[in-house]
Amino acid sequence: MLQRTSYLTKRYGDSDGHTLAVYERDGGYQQAKRALQMDRAALIDEMKAANIRGRGGAGFPMGVKWSFMPWPPKPEKPHYLVINADEGEPGTFKDRTIMEKNPHSIVEGCIIGCFGIGAHAAYIYVRDELHLAKARLWEAIAEAKKKGYLGDKPFGIDYPVEVYVHTGAGAYICGEETSLLNSLEGKRGEPRLKPPFPAQAGAFGMPSTVNNLETIAIVPTALAMGGDNFSKLSAIHNLKDGGARLFGVSGHVNKPGIYECAVGLTLRELIYDLGGGVKGGELLAVIPGGSSCPILRAEEIVKAPDPKSPLHPYDGKSVLDVPLGVDTFRSLGTMLGTCCAIVLSDLADPVLAFHNLLQFYRHESCGQCTPCREGSAWLFRILDRIVQGEAEVAELDRLSEIASNIMGNTICAFGEGTAMPTLGFLLKFRRELEEFIVTKGKSGTRRLAL
Ligand code: SF4
Repeated sequence: MLQRTSYLTKRYGDSDGHTLAVYERDGGYQQAKRALQMDRAALIDEMKAANIRGRGGAGFPMGVKWSFMPWPPKPEKPHYLVINADEGEPGTFKDRTIMEKNPHSIVEGCIIGCFGIGAHAAYIYVRDELHLAKARLWEAIAEAKKKGYLGDKPFGIDYPVEVYVHTGAGAYICGEETSLLNSLEGKRGEPRLKPPFPAQAGAFGMPSTVNNLETIAIVPTALAMGGDNFSKLSAIHNLKDGGARLFGVSGHVNKPGIYECAVGLTLRELIYDLGGGVKGGELLAVIPGGSSCPILRAEEIVKAPDPKSPLHPYDGKSVLDVPLGVDTFRSLGTMLGTCCAIVLSDLADPVLAFHNLLQFYRHESCGQCTPCREGSAWLFRILDRIVQGEAEVAELDRLSEIASNIMGNTICAFGEGTAMPTLGFLLKFRRELEEFIVTKGKSGTRRLAL
């Protein structure tokens, strides 16, 4: 059931919605003040009860992540909170809207988060080209500091907290947490081997928690409602993801955008009710949550499944009607990711969309591991030859072989992020790829690239 909410988006239509005055009019900063006087374990318990699954793509429970931090903090090992606002995933643009339209929720979430993990400093890592987002964050931090909500004694309470904005040069890989940490430290934005995990050795080698920006922005709301009540927003869907979140839809829909709803919205509601339906033509496919998620074809998402299929646990529901949750979508063989779906109509040429995607991954590989560096470039070269009408059908198997060799053989998940959509397109659009090769692209004539 479609359940719109407006915890983060309430002030999106207000031209002054980003200001401290308007945020405080709606009860802003009350939760930060309250949190700083709470028992820390009780605060973490509230966050665990809220069942906030990380909004950046991995879907890890946020309260559990906070509890991983060593306790008590040692004076020689200060803790840090790091907020990932890099948001480079194609089709994902939700965090940017929070920074631009509701920046104080982020600052307040940072104060609460710092207290929860025993940190006194939070770094918000933003990609540099998001000029309005950066300006709004800087403005919000200055306003909060002036009012005495940040600094040595926030709200007069003896728990110093500072929030800083750090800008990155705009590399997709800096959305990977250890790469982000390297970039934050002024090093090349390359992923680190794990372990150690950030809770052991994160920013500047100190224990750190890295949270996605939307995740931290919803913290004041979850605390105000109480963890259980927040979690229950998704109760009708019986999911292990709690609360409400931002859903995005883009590509070939009539009303692309960001919509806030209780967790458990379905793809049907996202595409047809909120997104206004497929624009031009019929539904061809959906990439459910950011470009690294394997693509789903219309046939497999519209029809009720075979009882023996992995969809069976959903009482014969088609994928369109399965609640969008971290675990539900994992069990469908794809991922929820950032919860920002990309829709392709049947006017789009899937081969050109595939080409576009591989061009992106080829460009964004950091180059540290050979399978990813060479593999992503090789995949793109073959796709490029297909698009130029120079490839042979047998080369499709080569694509599959290269992608399979990337899987599991790299330092970070970017390798899988390149291989999985590749294998997904090969599996789902084999016929279209073969036709494109045989007709030297004529099968794609009059179709549009994504
Ligand atoms: Fe870099 Fe790719 Fe290796 Fe990740 S998998 S470390 S992006 S080369």
